[in-house]
Amino acid sequence: MERKDLLNKLWEFQNTYGYISKNAIYEIAKKLKISTIEIEGVITFYHFFHSKPTGKFIIYLNNSIICEFKGFQQIKAAFEKETGCTFGEYDKNPLFSLFETSCIGLSDQEPAALINFHPVTNLTPQKVKKIIQQLKNGASLKSIESTFTSKIRYTPPEDKTVIFREYKVGKSLKNIKSADKILDLITKSKLTGRGGAFFSTAKKWKYCKDSNSSKKIVVCNADEGEPGTFKDKSLLNNLPGLLLEGMIIAAHVTGAKTGFIYLRAEYKYLLRNLESTLKDFYTKGLLGTNILGIKNFDFSIEIQLGAGSYVCGEEKALIESLEGKRGVPRIQKYFPTENGYLGYSTIVNNVETFVKAARTLELGLKFISKIGTNNSKGTKLLSISGDVAKPGIYEIEWGITVREILKLCEALSPYYVQISGPSGQCINNTEFDRKICDEDLICGGSIMVFNKSRSILHIQENFMKFFKMESCGVCTPCRAGNQILYEKIIKLKRGLGTQQDLDEIKEWGKIIQLSSRCGLGKTSPNSLVMAIDKFKDYFNLKISPSHDNKNVEFDMEAAIYDYDSLIKETQNQ
Ligand code: SF4
Repeated sequence: MERKDLLNKLWEFQNTYGYISKNAIYEIAKKLKISTIEIEGVITFYHFFHSKPTGKFIIYLNNSIICEFKGFQQIKAAFEKETGCTFGEYDKNPLFSLFETSCIGLSDQEPAALINFHPVTNLTPQKVKKIIQQLKNGASLKSIESTFTSKIRYTPPEDKTVIFREYKVGKSLKNIKSADKILDLITKSKLTGRGGAFFSTAKKWKYCKDSNSSKKIVVCNADEGEPGTFKDKSLLNNLPGLLLEGMIIAAHVTGAKTGFIYLRAEYKYLLRNLESTLKDFYTKGLLGTNILGIKNFDFSIEIQLGAGSYVCGEEKALIESLEGKRGVPRIQKYFPTENGYLGYSTIVNNVETFVKAARTLELGLKFISKIGTNNSKGTKLLSISGDVAKPGIYEIEWGITVREILKLCEALSPYYVQISGPSGQCINNTEFDRKICDEDLICGGSIMVFNKSRSILHIQENFMKFFKMESCGVCTPCRAGNQILYEKIIKLKRGLGTQQDLDEIKEWGKIIQLSSRCGLGKTSPNSLVMAIDKFKDYFNLKISPSHDNKNVEFDMEAAIYDYDSLIKETQNQ
């Protein structure tokens, strides 16, 4: 066993025994010749590894803002009532263990949970009761599983649909050309990373191609953890072959012989479909050796299951995780194309990026170029959730306005729209004519719609809790700064906020953004800081002096109690 196999080894113990015991840790440490403390460090980093015994059924209830607004508290209470367990505690119950978890990619079907990684969606207290009863009576997990597929609600007219059109295995690979010609095509198509960073795909591939690394690696980042995003799940489920074709094209360009799909554990239920597609590709000679009859074009792909960590969606953290370590993002000094997986030149691209690259080869530049805007060519997949009648997946032409999107998804009195998840930006109703594209409002894939009945501070509290929870903690501005912002939100919620607090939020926001190492800290204050400016009336009301002690229902005792818990919480971190 090598260090890079550590996550898989930990999964073996976790799956077999429900936890990773001290003996197991000792055994693994001996084999790897590393300290037990280092192994414990890896276990404690990931949400889905446990070092204490769990019940036969581990239930992870999603606590994203969409779930909170759809009844999270009632569902949480129902699970506790029906199982007799408490969330977050190791109750020694032989049957059940309950935990909260960050977004599980089912925002269109909330409230949702995973039971031993089988999805159960659209939960009601009655449904929870039934599921728990069935499990107690010996029902199989498969029989209680809900559908996890998200509805594809919209595609453009056929001559403008890029992603969700008919798929025939190997069609894009038939158009494979020399590496330079492909790079030229990808450059002209203006393809940029669809995970949210929007870095030029052609540049990334070229850096890797030109690197003198003895090995090149292609990694697919299938770890979409941004709350409200589930479009990659849809691609992995509906078009896994197209993803593989995109990776094969990237391997051809860069000269990589090894590829990985880093699949978030929340999507473990997609493993079987992915594995059978891989098998099919090997059988057809599209993976393996001398692919497409091209001499020395050898490429193989392995799937690595993550273990629950938002920050592992960041490419440098993902590589650490792939090497069997804690997913702590590496310092910015090197790009992964210079020093990536095990020191080799590595490209990491998002699922949608590979899919789009394959479609670009298949459909050609002429087809792609006529769709979208000057800087953003083709289409984009959006996951839409919240206060809308039609949550689901939308393939939109770049350049569509927010207003048009809100009409398509039948938004219900939209008031506050969060673009690109908590790390993105929020907009108010004066901005609904803005266009989704590079020239205006760029979007990584999540759109969450909220109506006026939703508390903006509740939304921000949920977002900041999420960032606090998911911060790897290695740099102080992110670790401590997000805690400070969280405390400010609680203060405002309690009616104790002042103008000075709003000013300080902005100051802290700047510090966190400028001095954090990775994307998490660089973006975590975005939504809150923007909301203060874009929803001035709302925030002014929260700090109005008339609200200090008189007109607001304010419970001083509760506030003091909350601050005590906050201090304790901080000390425990
Ligand atoms: Fe870790 Fe946050 Fe620093 Fe990123 S910004 S490296 S998540 S502490």
